[in-house]
Amino acid sequence: MADVLHVTSEVVPFSKTGGLADVSAALPEALSRRGHKVAVVTPLYRKVNAARHGIRPTALRFPVTLGGRTCDFAVHEAALPEGTAVYFLACDEWFGRDELYGTRDGDYPDNYLRFAFFAAAAFRLMRALRRRPDVIHSHDWQAGLVPMFNQLNHLELSGTVLTIHNLAYQGLFPAQVMPEVGLPWDCFRAYGGVEFWGRVSFLKAGMVHADAVTTVSPTYAREVCTRQGGVGMDGVLRALGDRFSGILNGADYGAWEPSTDALLPSQYSAADMAGKAICRDRLLADFGLPEPNGPLFGVVGRLTSQKGHDLLAGCLDDLVAAGGSLVVLGTGERAVEESFRAAAGRHPGRVSLRVAYDEPLAHIVEAGADFFLMPSRFEPCGLNQIYSMRYGTLPVVHATGGLEDTVRDVDEEPGRGTGLKFRAFDRASLAWAIRRARDLWDDKARYLEIQRRAMAEDFSWEASARAYEALYERVAR
Ligand code: ADP
Repeated sequence: MADVLHVTSEVVPFSKTGGLADVSAALPEALSRRGHKVAVVTPLYRKVNAARHGIRPTALRFPVTLGGRTCDFAVHEAALPEGTAVYFLACDEWFGRDELYGTRDGDYPDNYLRFAFFAAAAFRLMRALRRRPDVIHSHDWQAGLVPMFNQLNHLELSGTVLTIHNLAYQGLFPAQVMPEVGLPWDCFRAYGGVEFWGRVSFLKAGMVHADAVTTVSPTYAREVCTRQGGVGMDGVLRALGDRFSGILNGADYGAWEPSTDALLPSQYSAADMAGKAICRDRLLADFGLPEPNGPLFGVVGRLTSQKGHDLLAGCLDDLVAAGGSLVVLGTGERAVEESFRAAAGRHPGRVSLRVAYDEPLAHIVEAGADFFLMPSRFEPCGLNQIYSMRYGTLPVVHATGGLEDTVRDVDEEPGRGTGLKFRAFDRASLAWAIRRARDLWDDKARYLEIQRRAMAEDFSWEASARAYEALYERVAR
């Protein structure tokens, strides 16, 4: 049994901007179920609803000093549904804001201070609790300084793991922030240091100081070691050798399971699909679309070029020409939103866009659509394609990263397929996958058989938790 502390900037159900929040709850809970002593530490943002989630203040408060500046932190606590302890670090100066990282106009300019203090406060919390975890598992650049502080400041070291949920977010700041965040200049080195093309990278700080580095699927782990997929970090990753690996995320079937999902107008299962038709009617009504003659495609997610939504927006005339209809739920880059809006204008009754972050509606899309589109340019793991398989909504995906690892193409692997993949990232390939989806949907018996197979896929957290457990054994001190 290991004592493991997760340091993360978002945790479902308290705060969330993406898949990181899902993992930060589901992995600790899976580890707790397996008998480990697990806790999570995360910021108490202003938008976290303390009353709704039973978050209580504790008597613990302490000052944290970095670069000559001192801030006071108060500790609040709550538990995840299965009992894993969550500690919230409250500091109005850093977290008393409307958003987690920034507004539509850009990131908060002092994010380097906000998350340097967060990392330092996580250690101060351990001291206050008189707890020295066997392993500190930090997530993404926001907790990137944790493995480094572990080496710089502490005599009694914990083993450290850093998980990269998306290498595109590197926590890059001007070199001048070094003294402000309490880092000595001798750490500012290209090899084994925090320097990255003349700037400081909080993510690289974590990568070079952690005992082990992981990312969230085996294929993405391979892709980021190449020049093409490495976003400049491929050399750093290759130098890690076998300290770097990919462990596929699991899905939280407690929240995403059509036979128990209370957010659906009607539950259903592979044995009785009647409820799925009711969900489809609700979805069409919610998006103001008439009953289509062809398949209904769904999209949920950040509307960004990473997710390939620029490619999809450019492909909507093909989708409509192939007889499809489309519902899109998401928020993101203005230009991508605009091109979806323009397509909805061109194709009234066939394409409908909802610019919102709406968790209940996301469940209705997953359940009500016939196909789920995820044409990501790159995809570290991706959760929505895993959820959609469980809901019998066949994923149409670009064969990259975690999408490659979780979806089997119906034509490439007859008898085993669970979705449709396209390999070249261009309009013709995506349009071709959409046409194949239409043909599959027309062949009702085959479509149902593949739906049932997709629903039987199991990406629960148990297997992933076991892989992390093996890693913890290697790095624990
Ligand atoms: P990423 O973490 O890159 O954003 P993932 O597919 O790994 O992508 O996870 C996205 C998560 O965020 C899913 O749980 C998805 O349902 C949710 N999500 C994203 N955008 C929205 C939205 N507009 N409304 C509701 N849920 C959303």
